Amino acid sequence: MYQLRDYQKQAVENTLAYFRKTRDPAVIVLPTGAGKSLVIAELARVARGRVLVLAHVKELVEQNHKKYESYGLEAGIYSAGLNKKEAHQKVIFGSIQSVANARESFFEDFTLVVIDECHRVGLEQETQYAQVIKKLSQKNENLCVLGLTATPYRMGVGWIFNYSAEGEERSKEARFFKNCIYELPLQYMIKNKYLTPPVRVDIPVTCYDFSELTEGGRSFTMKEVEAVLKKQRRLTPLIVKNIVDITEKYHRKGVMIFSSTVKHAQEILEDLPEGEAKIILGETEEAERDRIVREFKEKKIKYLVNVSVLTTGFDAPHVDVIAILRPTDSLSLYQQIIGRGLRLDPGKKDCFILDYTGVTHDIYSPQIADKKPTPESVMVQIPCPKCGFENNFWGKVDDEGNILEHYGRTCRGGVRDPDTMNYKPCGYRFRFKICPKCSAENDVTARHCIQCKEVLVDADTKLKQARLSKNAYVLKPDMIELGERRDKNGNSFLEVKYYDHDAKYLSEIHYLNNDTALKKFNINFLRSHMKRPEFNLPLETIEDVLKYQWLFRMPSFVIARKQGKFWRITEKIFAEEL
Ligand SMILES: [Zn+2]
Ligand SMILES: [Zn+2]
Repeated sequence: MYQLRDYQKQAVENTLAYFRKTRDPAVIVLPTGAGKSLVIAELARVARGRVLVLAHVKELVEQNHKKYESYGLEAGIYSAGLNKKEAHQKVIFGSIQSVANARESFFEDFTLVVIDECHRVGLEQETQYAQVIKKLSQKNENLCVLGLTATPYRMGVGWIFNYSAEGEERSKEARFFKNCIYELPLQYMIKNKYLTPPVRVDIPVTCYDFSELTEGGRSFTMKEVEAVLKKQRRLTPLIVKNIVDITEKYHRKGVMIFSSTVKHAQEILEDLPEGEAKIILGETEEAERDRIVREFKEKKIKYLVNVSVLTTGFDAPHVDVIAILRPTDSLSLYQQIIGRGLRLDPGKKDCFILDYTGVTHDIYSPQIADKKPTPESVMVQIPCPKCGFENNFWGKVDDEGNILEHYGRTCRGGVRDPDTMNYKPCGYRFRFKICPKCSAENDVTARHCIQCKEVLVDADTKLKQARLSKNAYVLKPDMIELGERRDKNGNSFLEVKYYDHDAKYLSEIHYLNNDTALKKFNINFLRSHMKRPEFNLPLETIEDVLKYQWLFRMPSFVIARKQGKFWRITEKIFAEEL
């Protein structure tokens, strides 16, 4: 019989507790190598009905099944590609294509469906996953749907669930999976020696320059990659030589090289030591592919070049060098590539990661929250003043790592109601936009007021309209200057001047001499200008304001409108609104 590790027990316990309360689809995040088969086995053991485990390719079906049976358990396979259509066992491993076409009777008695690599499941109703879940639910309206993945995000989509296991709101948009109920970080696996540590090797020689593809954080196609590579072909032999040098110097045993295109892969192969390298392409025949993989696993060849064919499910534990020569904007693909080198193997201490693309991603803890607002932004941790949740936001730090500013808008923390498993967000707003009609606080990107439904014009439209209008002026400030002035009655006021780099300026004034004026100053200036809005500093005199002016940030744009002879500032637009 099998023995569960502590974290596997926890994952199972969380799953049972969750499905006792609700039937909303849920996700468990386990890194590659965390032993998801055991979690499935334990869930199957306690499940009253049958369990269906779905995967998108037959290789994965076969591998999951094999692993499962290695624990002395029995399960069936339903996959046309594997020439097996078994349907009588309690646990069935199936490929989604075959199961989607299975006959009615196949769908009887299942109480749990487990979807492997579940980051592929979208919201669309016409997908095969949606069809299969519909059929299963028709037979059993209490069906539990559990997703498993090591990489719970998808390109262009972001997080695949709404709420994390710690109660963090990861996505506001509709998601197929509502909650993540268990998440095991990769660090845990490495620290506890279940996986080999990856070691990023700084490459002194040379590197492709793909920066033109990634400017502004946009995504790119392999066609564009090909065009860039064409211009930098001469670098390939140098890069390959570097891979070989490192491999030989450090006595590495298995090297996987990920190339960008078929042509690129062939160029790489030409420069590798003869007889020690092979290539696997998408079109490589299955028998041939199996033979090459076997030779590689038996260490008859040292280098294996591939064009992202060997990312999912490929398993050669001795791999101790991963060389990345293909840029990707997909974090999950990047992590899958690295994952190929983290399996334990006798005598293996670490796995070198050689990245020649300059387009690197975080191996450990990706925070694919929002787009980076500025190129120099880094992730900072900001505790919520209302609920204490540690939010990960984009922000700015100084040379010592002190947080200067952050771009977070709403607290992502919250609590889960233990009776319904429903999540109640904290809702604290660090930044907000005030409804001009009813003064309600709205998210900076809201299009309609949450209270009175008034249309809220977004920043882009405001800018566009202002630029087209003769009576409006848009200034891109370069400097902000604060000073104390006196009016003709001798009352002092604060003047704020915004200069652009041609030294043109717009200014606004604030009185701070009574409660109403202070309130106005708070709403119209402080709330939007504070670099750290969660610090609720009582700035009540002009002297205080001048003393603490380093706490203020500059707007990205200032819009003024003509009023009689003067230009009056009517709107200020800040980085997070753009
Ligand atoms: Zn909060
Ligand atoms: Zn309103």
